[in-house]
Amino acid sequence: MTGLAWHTGPHMEPEVVLPDGRHTEAAEFFEQVARAFCSSATSLLSDRKMAEPEVRIVAASNIMEVAAAEGERLGLQPDRRLGVERVGGVVGGKCLISDDRRRASIIVADYAATASDAPSRLIAAALLGHEVGHLIYGLIRGAEIGIFPNVWKPWEVAGMIAVLAAEEYRVDVLGQVLAERTLLPTDDSGAPVSLADISGSGYRSGLKGALDEISPKLEGTILAYRLHRLSLDELWNAMARTSEGIALYLAHTEAHTKQAALAIEGVAHRGAHLLEPFWRPLFAYLRQAPMVPPATEWSADRKRLIEIGRAGYMEAWRRLGVAARPQGEGFFLSVFDPE
Ligand SMILES: [Zn+2]
Repeated sequence: MTGLAWHTGPHMEPEVVLPDGRHTEAAEFFEQVARAFCSSATSLLSDRKMAEPEVRIVAASNIMEVAAAEGERLGLQPDRRLGVERVGGVVGGKCLISDDRRRASIIVADYAATASDAPSRLIAAALLGHEVGHLIYGLIRGAEIGIFPNVWKPWEVAGMIAVLAAEEYRVDVLGQVLAERTLLPTDDSGAPVSLADISGSGYRSGLKGALDEISPKLEGTILAYRLHRLSLDELWNAMARTSEGIALYLAHTEAHTKQAALAIEGVAHRGAHLLEPFWRPLFAYLRQAPMVPPATEWSADRKRLIEIGRAGYMEAWRRLGVAARPQGEGFFLSVFDPE
């Protein structure tokens, strides 16, 4: 890649906070990208007759700490401040929105503001674009349907995982569109470059390693429970955490895949087979549904995602040898031979 050209509209003014207040050329570039993305966000929001919030964008090395402080500033409960985004194990960013949707903070890794060559600037822009995607998606969703309630029973968690994976997929696509349309990246011959080609290959090459978390790792955890080396709580916590983690990984991977076939389609891995009841209907749905559902369709969209996640993960867990059913106020897990 050789060039990045500019294409910007009218500017909405986010407050941009740079690491140590440094004003290097790379930091200035980051600030311009941030302003351009926010102006795109403004026009997407005004299409829906929504006001833009006051936005603060922080590039920081200590994302966790800054996210906690920003969450407090926005009046969010502690459980809503944590859980920063990890991309391939690396902490990438966080988007926080106040409950009244009038203020928001985006925190991204400080390398976004120090990237000096075109490819790393494009990747940094996609990282910021992803978080601005969460901002747009979160504001519109908040106005239409609200956040997903806290759930803990397996069948509810299964539904929630599909809702979370759908958001990651959609804001990833939004982030790529923002970055590509703003920076107009080109290769050596001047032909347009797609972010899916650049950052997608990393996700695709990490796919087998990610699926190892299901098979053999989660299978090993289930076996350890059967051998009385783990409590039922420990088993369920590991299942819920791993199931969500791989679903988000698949969402990022497929969002960065432009081919007709899904990236996971051609992967010969037992984990891909075990999870197929989840990923096949989920991505079939996401590929044809709008990136941001129209105002009247949020509740139908969430209902569909919950159905996909619930049916898909309950079947995937059954293949792994675990089934859940209601018992009193809680649930009962039965564990048996895997498929
Ligand atoms: Zn995300």
